[in-house]
Amino acid sequence: MKIKNNPQRVSFKAGLTPTIKKLAAQYSGANIEYLFKQRGVNADFKNNRAIAYCCGIVNDIFETLTNKYKLPFGAKPPSLTVYHDNDLINYADRDCLGFCLPDSARIILGKGVYEARSVFYNNERMKTLSEMDALAEAQHRSGFNSTNHFLHTIIHEWVHNIHNDLLYRVFGYDGTCPKTLQRYNTFNGVYYDPNPYVSGIEHLKRMQASRYTSQQREIIKKEISEYAAGRRVRSGSIQGGNPFELIAETITKEVVDVLDPNTLMVTQNPFYQAGKHDKKLTDLVNNAWYNIAGG
Ligand SMILES: [Zn+2]
Repeated sequence: MKIKNNPQRVSFKAGLTPTIKKLAAQYSGANIEYLFKQRGVNADFKNNRAIAYCCGIVNDIFETLTNKYKLPFGAKPPSLTVYHDNDLINYADRDCLGFCLPDSARIILGKGVYEARSVFYNNERMKTLSEMDALAEAQHRSGFNSTNHFLHTIIHEWVHNIHNDLLYRVFGYDGTCPKTLQRYNTFNGVYYDPNPYVSGIEHLKRMQASRYTSQQREIIKKEISEYAAGRRVRSGSIQGGNPFELIAETITKEVVDVLDPNTLMVTQNPFYQAGKHDKKLTDLVNNAWYNIAGG
């Protein structure tokens, strides 16, 4: 998408540098919506230039990982929407910084059905790059997020979109979204062939419901983040801590770790760092993509 930053030495804190701020200010939300629309991607940034800019950068990052490093992330970018808290149909979603729809759904008051894999970002809590930077810093300091990078939430949701794409490619898609049905074969089951057959949507629901053991949670929390491991909230339920959150938090961390701090460009294949993590974590992450062994 050609949102490239000039290499220039600047002080580095949580990924946000004065150079990046200056470059981001050159783009309006509408500029970046136009760039996405040229590629057939719907983007509605509600004039939030910070999120728009970050989406452009993250799109460049995943294009590089796909084209240069041959990683299987070549999913079409998701439809991107910035929302206002008050516009959400389900008020329970108001706590989120963003989310990705596994299947098509109505999300925003007065709007129609969004297609499966659409990604949404919260306008109220991420109005500027500095706000995103401070938020990531605070969430990382508390151990909640795997990185303190201002791109954290943008990448995290983007990874959910890629993960859902991989699942539907492998298990087939049997939901109701006409566009998604067109994109994936129904019941193709190219990789997974249990008896009886488990459909893409059913498999996805099982993955969302699966939780890690306390031993696994300990490893995940230490190596990745508390959200990936699962955090018990006041109601007693567990927030995060399923294969989707483990993948999103891990990939976000791996990607952020190989970004040039000044240009935000990918400097090396993020997955060629053997021995970086505990072997038990690597096994958990490998399994979490399709969760065939359960978890
Ligand atoms: Zn998530």
